[in-house]
Amino acid sequence: MSWESSATYYKIINQYTNTLLGSQNNAKSIMVTVNFDEIEKLQHADKWEEATQILIKACKSLQNGGADFIVICTNTMHKLLPKISPHVEVPFLHIAQATAKEIKKDGNSKVLLMGTKFTMQEDFYKKILIENGIKVEIPNTQDMELIHKVIYKELCLGSIKESSKKAFMQIISKAKDIDGVILGCTEIGMLIAQNDVDVKVYDTTVVHAKEAVRMAVLS
Ligand code: GLU
Repeated sequence: MSWESSATYYKIINQYTNTLLGSQNNAKSIMVTVNFDEIEKLQHADKWEEATQILIKACKSLQNGGADFIVICTNTMHKLLPKISPHVEVPFLHIAQATAKEIKKDGNSKVLLMGTKFTMQEDFYKKILIENGIKVEIPNTQDMELIHKVIYKELCLGSIKESSKKAFMQIISKAKDIDGVILGCTEIGMLIAQNDVDVKVYDTTVVHAKEAVRMAVLS
């Protein structure tokens, strides 16, 4: 969600599996793709219950297909995980838990969180970071509006603009005393890379996809 970041997940999961196992190995996986147009409209109409039902159905197909665990390829929709998980027997690998683990592994403790307004403003995501002892900064209201707009109007449609990249870099450079920035939306990695900024970048797509591979291969 969008398919742009699902494609990135698919690539990383297979590449990293091959890095760990070599030879012709790739990941055995089942992917259910929802129609993001439907999801995006429900999100912005505040119809989260309907979105929950779509995701429960998708998760049940994965369960019926034999999945050992589920990765929901978006930060925002983890808002619904507490409502989804009681209906599904297989476990989930939470994107914020995977990100918190990575930040702690680096010995870092103060980060800027960039994502959709749902992710930046609400508690469902920040709460998990805070419970892990991580201090979370969010951009100011104007910058949050800009980030949200770029995500939905550009990145989810595969549009990469130099002006948006500069704006994101400026927002990151304005944050004081941070150890790192969480690209807390699975499409932001299309715009910002480690070389673009002075602080450690936690790209949740990469972090989540790699942790999924380690969970599958090493456990
Ligand atoms: N993929 C984005 C995220 O990680 C936003 C799109 C969505 O709502 O899923 O939050």
